[in-house]
Amino acid sequence: MTALSIRNLQKTYANGVVALKGIDLDVEQGDFFALLGSNGAGKSTAIGIICSLVNKSSGSVQVFGHDLDRDPAAVKQCIGLVPQEFNFNQFEPLEEIVANQAGYYGVERGEALRRTEECLRQLDLWDKRREMARELSGGMKRRLMIARALAHQPKLLILDEPTAGVDVEIRHNMWDLLREINQQGTTIILTTHYLEEAERMCRHIGIINQGEIIEHSSLSQFLNKLSAECYELNLREGLSDFVDQSIGGFAVSRLNDLTLQVEVPKEQSLNNLFALLSERGIEIVGMRSAQNRLEQLYMDILANSRRENG
Ligand code: ADP
Repeated sequence: MTALSIRNLQKTYANGVVALKGIDLDVEQGDFFALLGSNGAGKSTAIGIICSLVNKSSGSVQVFGHDLDRDPAAVKQCIGLVPQEFNFNQFEPLEEIVANQAGYYGVERGEALRRTEECLRQLDLWDKRREMARELSGGMKRRLMIARALAHQPKLLILDEPTAGVDVEIRHNMWDLLREINQQGTTIILTTHYLEEAERMCRHIGIINQGEIIEHSSLSQFLNKLSAECYELNLREGLSDFVDQSIGGFAVSRLNDLTLQVEVPKEQSLNNLFALLSERGIEIVGMRSAQNRLEQLYMDILANSRRENG
């Protein structure tokens, strides 16, 4: 079953800005999908249309088989949205915020309270249920946003930049949590510009650039496009006279006395290189990836797409 199917979706805002130039997008049920793109690419516009917050200019959107034009209520029922900004009433207790949301989707009060307990427990907020939202820490507020979005048991959870501006610990907790929600069967779509986030969690990605989808594939297919990775090797002893050269087919260059940089073609092992370096009396004491490979690929794809568009 397809969770989301978008065909030739276009959006031109009243001021003439063309935010979406006819995009196609498919997300399968159970998937964890990242919609990537720089600021202004059109991510929020696409999410806004799917969630009935923005009117499309043309094209079609189907969510779990329900057409947005023909049955917008059924589409809404399928979706839980976690927007970027906190938009709950800060002076309401958590329990009320979540239960009222379920009620808003037509869930009867007793059942709404039962689901509220379930959601607050899952998001580790049950102990705080009687506290006012304003008393929560930033990380807890984010979890509350997710609890509220899950209150009516949506099949599709959409998060707009879920970890924008949060610290490392909260980000990692959030990733664990989202993975768990996905494993329990909820399809997840998130927008992000943290490529690491997409790499850690998502099975499929779409990259949107200037209102167009320029990449739509599985994460592994996407990463396969990388031809080489770059590593920095830390040396035990200083090397002042190393001349950049090819060793065993690897391009090795000197960054400074204690660091070499090496380009490793895909599917090649570094063991061979380490042996060859050791023969030359060079001992490696540490190494790290010199670039975020996903980031590099992303930049390449953007550059290609700009070139193609003149
Ligand atoms: P993203 O979420 O990827 O940052 P957006 O969908 O917010 O991108 O924006 C896409 C384009 O549409 C941008 O050029 C933006 O300035 C424009 N835009 C977004 N919202 C509006 C609006 N309400 N009115 C006019 N232009 C808008």
